[in-house]
Amino acid sequence: MRIPEIYRNKKAEGKPVFSLEVFPPKRKSNRDSIYDAVEILKATEPDFISVTYGAGGSVADFSTCEIASNIKQQYGIETLAHLTCINSSREDVKEMIQKLKDAKIENVMALRGDIVPGEDIKREFAHANELAIEIQRKGKGELEILGACYPEGHYEAASIDEDIQNLKYKIGAGVSVLISQLFFDNSKFCSFLERVREDGINTPISAGIMPIVKASQIEKTVQLSGASMPHEFTELMARYQHQPKELYEAGIDYAIGQCRDLIARGVDGVHIYTMNDPKVAVRVHDGIKDLL
Ligand code: FAD
Repeated sequence: MRIPEIYRNKKAEGKPVFSLEVFPPKRKSNRDSIYDAVEILKATEPDFISVTYGAGGSVADFSTCEIASNIKQQYGIETLAHLTCINSSREDVKEMIQKLKDAKIENVMALRGDIVPGEDIKREFAHANELAIEIQRKGKGELEILGACYPEGHYEAASIDEDIQNLKYKIGAGVSVLISQLFFDNSKFCSFLERVREDGINTPISAGIMPIVKASQIEKTVQLSGASMPHEFTELMARYQHQPKELYEAGIDYAIGQCRDLIARGVDGVHIYTMNDPKVAVRVHDGIKDLL
């Protein structure tokens, strides 16, 4: 099913879309562990599962397509295959689009990918909107296109306003649903939503939520996402930084609190960054399932 239809159906029921993100395991020898995770995650009955492409050090190869296809075929769960373009040639992208179509994937997230300083990149595509256009052309209407958005602004944009103006290029290129970067401060997401809606962007937007369950995740996550940390969150993390069990519980509770508040405010969806830890995602789901 095409993902915008899921949002339309859920909206008609007055419910938010509940989705999950997983990534292909880094080591090839460990590839099947993703299906052990999905075996557990399926209990949450997600509306869709997204599979990253080359994010966080995992390899950008055909494994995203393969995993997305297997989740769809074997578990009957709709999938969203991520695809980045900054380091791809037109030929690479053409090949990947064909693979996705052959695998009967219906939904693709068009992303630029991060520019790593000093790394030699192809730059045949400069921005996600250019990839979206290519997917439209080569996909010949068989692929639905989603995109990313940044409640606190993308780190390269001079301001949130500039980033929102740039977001319109994606929408113009056919992106029909947006999934947000993770954030810890709901007020940032809500004011972003207000601004994009005022600016005439009416596509559904899911809120990206990442439960922090280990002290080691905090610095890395903030560094990679640029998410600001509200006082309540930093206090919690500081209080339990040397108590792993308590921090685990506090991190899950914080994510549940974020989701419950956002759902009460009428968000289109919540998208949980599972970090391939299905137990954490199940716990968050348990804490919000009465609202889904
Ligand atoms: P773009 O939309 O191209 O934006 C990048 C910057 O350029 C922004 O500052 C924007 O304001 C500006 N911009 C955009 N369009 C234009 C334009 N036409 N002209 C001028 N400026 C423009 N990375 C991975 O490697 N693999 C993944 O699977 C992955 N999944 C992600 C999923 C989500 C939900 C999110 C939020 C991010 C994900 N990322 C992933 C990270 C993402 O690739 C990076 O954040 C990257 O730096 C930007 O990607 P983008 O698609 O948002 O880029």
